[in-house]
Amino acid sequence: MDVFGLLGNPVGHSLSPPMHEAAYDEFGMDARYVTFEPATDELGAAIDGADALGVAGLNVTIPFKEEALDFVEPDEMATRVGAVNTIDFSGETPTGHNTDVAGVRRAFAHHDVALAEQDAVVVGAGGAARAAAFALADANANSIHVANRTKSRAERLAADVSDSVGDQLSDGVTAGGLEALETRVSDATVLVNATSVGMEEDRSPVPKAALHGDLAVLDAVYRPLETRLLSEARECGATTIDGAWMLLYQGVEAFERWTGRDAPVGRMNESLRARL
Ligand code: NAP
Repeated sequence: MDVFGLLGNPVGHSLSPPMHEAAYDEFGMDARYVTFEPATDELGAAIDGADALGVAGLNVTIPFKEEALDFVEPDEMATRVGAVNTIDFSGETPTGHNTDVAGVRRAFAHHDVALAEQDAVVVGAGGAARAAAFALADANANSIHVANRTKSRAERLAADVSDSVGDQLSDGVTAGGLEALETRVSDATVLVNATSVGMEEDRSPVPKAALHGDLAVLDAVYRPLETRLLSEARECGATTIDGAWMLLYQGVEAFERWTGRDAPVGRMNESLRARL
């Protein structure tokens, strides 16, 4: 039997086990997806132990995504983003990958939104925001503005993306606090909420007045699926993409990396949405 799993703390409410097991079921694979909750100072021991036990692959979530870089051989994307969310144990040493970036890219692609030449705003500067900003940069967005409550974190993310892609973006990467968000979003064509604002609360991180019909909006929050931001964006005629699409496609990418098969996306999506 192949064992896959998730390392996090806490991992109690994770939707990854049923989503991945739906894929194993589809292919009749003898495999299980298990959650592991090591103590926060035991990440290295947990990864070494999984390797020794023959675990095939692990996802990594809060609070371990950044620290995991120290215990695996990170690929280029994980190094650029500064976070690992997928570990592959099939080689000599465990390798680290970041499928959150593909999760963002494929969530937009699923909704026929091309990111090239768009003016994008990312709200937030944590892990989800980093994945979104790198996905937008690699897709050749025209411009990216990172807005965050703590402005210094937005500036650091913008600098990291600029250092990584150079002058590839015609209008560059900028950063600011939340005060100029309304103007920025009014002028944008793509918006990503990568803050936790709206999670299990009826609040939007973006003033409704800024939303308009030329926007495509991805909300990384998936509890609830229909956040206030998404319902207000829909009312304005925007294209809306809920956070379950990002969650689905990061899982799809991990499954495809571990197994070399095309993931049964519809089946994984059904399994995920049945639990939201
Ligand atoms: P994180 O690294 O802890 O970052 C949290 C971000 O939210 C920071 O930018 C923080 O700003 C901001 N924030 C928190 N409370 C705020 C408030 N009251 N007002 C304004 N900004 C606030 O978390 P993360 O991993 O990036 O996750 C962010 C969200 O994305 C969560 O809801 C998470 O569930 C979701 N997520 C979804 C997926 C998916 O696959 N759909 C994947 C990853 C994460 P400061 O820097 O000022 O603290």
